[in-house]
Amino acid sequence: MEKRIKENSSWRPQTQLVRGGVTRSLFEETSEALFLTSGYIYKTAENAEAAFKGDTSRYIYSRYGNPTVSMFQDRLALLEGAKHCVATASGMAAMFASLACLLKSGDRIVASRALFGSCYFIISELLPRFGVDVEFVDGTDLNQWAEVLKKPAKAVFVETPSNPTLEIIDLLKITRIAHAAGAYVIVDNVFATPILQRPLEFGVDMVMYSTTKHIDGQGRGLGGAILTNDDTLFEDFLIPFLRHTGPAMSPFNAWVMLKGLETLSLRMERHCHNAHVISKFLTNHKIIKSVLYPGLDSHPQHQLAMSQMKSGSTILTFEINGGKDAAFQFLNSLQLINISNNLGDAKSLITHPATTTHQRLSVAERAHLGITDGMTRLSVGLEDVEDLIEDLNQALQSTPC
Ligand SMILES: *Cc1c(COP(=O)(O)O)cnc(C)c1O
Repeated sequence: MEKRIKENSSWRPQTQLVRGGVTRSLFEETSEALFLTSGYIYKTAENAEAAFKGDTSRYIYSRYGNPTVSMFQDRLALLEGAKHCVATASGMAAMFASLACLLKSGDRIVASRALFGSCYFIISELLPRFGVDVEFVDGTDLNQWAEVLKKPAKAVFVETPSNPTLEIIDLLKITRIAHAAGAYVIVDNVFATPILQRPLEFGVDMVMYSTTKHIDGQGRGLGGAILTNDDTLFEDFLIPFLRHTGPAMSPFNAWVMLKGLETLSLRMERHCHNAHVISKFLTNHKIIKSVLYPGLDSHPQHQLAMSQMKSGSTILTFEINGGKDAAFQFLNSLQLINISNNLGDAKSLITHPATTTHQRLSVAERAHLGITDGMTRLSVGLEDVEDLIEDLNQALQSTPC
């Protein structure tokens, strides 16, 4: 595996996305082979013994590794510029493993408050049950990070841009503060994708993805991945945890994701272009109270976003005058854009965070995160942007404010 990554590493990213990690079977197929097998056979009992001793490197069981899954992992590692990659059954399996492989009772974790709902559940409710000390900070406030990390911590977890308010966290500065406190830094890079942001370049220790989102990009399957350059983290913590707890990615999903990677950068270009055009259209609309899009000058951290990411991303959040009733009327009036909490799809999808993804939070917690009742989050798809604007426009016109 290691060798193949080195051989291919001089290719440019778009070439990596199409050809990185390919291992052909004896049939010399063009398209990556789908190995739907749970097990592998040994020519002799001695071969099996050697494989289990670790004297030979080969596939033993698909919970540990599978050729199709390996191709996906290698291709994603090449794109991220990471030494190691492991795929998981979902983004949440990746997120949980990245923390659970590391933390034990008595350890401390510090996280940014604005997180994907299930990530917030794991940190705020699940980890404390296992005796882990948890503290949340406002991710954009460097003073809070510095204050809280005067005490040592084992892990720091952040999401940037965050869901749904698209806050940008300064990866370089947070990583410095966290490392000084002895913490590993783990980044949820789902909204940015490896095309727009490569956290390992800022010194981050682990990056995790829900490949369900842009990496598949066509709404077909669940998947996740964790990447790192740290040999110890990978070999002594992550791999034993994943092998024995079993959240392995299915070979079929890995094959779907491999195909997704081939077009990822092309799709991202179009997603980001469409999102930028729509953000400008909405900014000028009279019943829109505010638009949050990292690619706009009006975003509170526009400069930081542009220094850390290649573009403004594929998602924008906007607030409609008139609160929940107006927001619901607007959503119900859309004819092309679908109401869905998913994101990163070829189809444009819109959701009302306060009553869906962030419903579990208390009113006070939502207020603290800036999630208002008039706020909607739009994951911009690959349709013609003029059709999207026409749909948004007709829905806004039928919305009283
Ligand atoms: C979707 C998502 C996850 C979870 O991924 P699943 O594949 O749904 O398990 C985690 N973080 C962010 C930011 C996400 O958007």
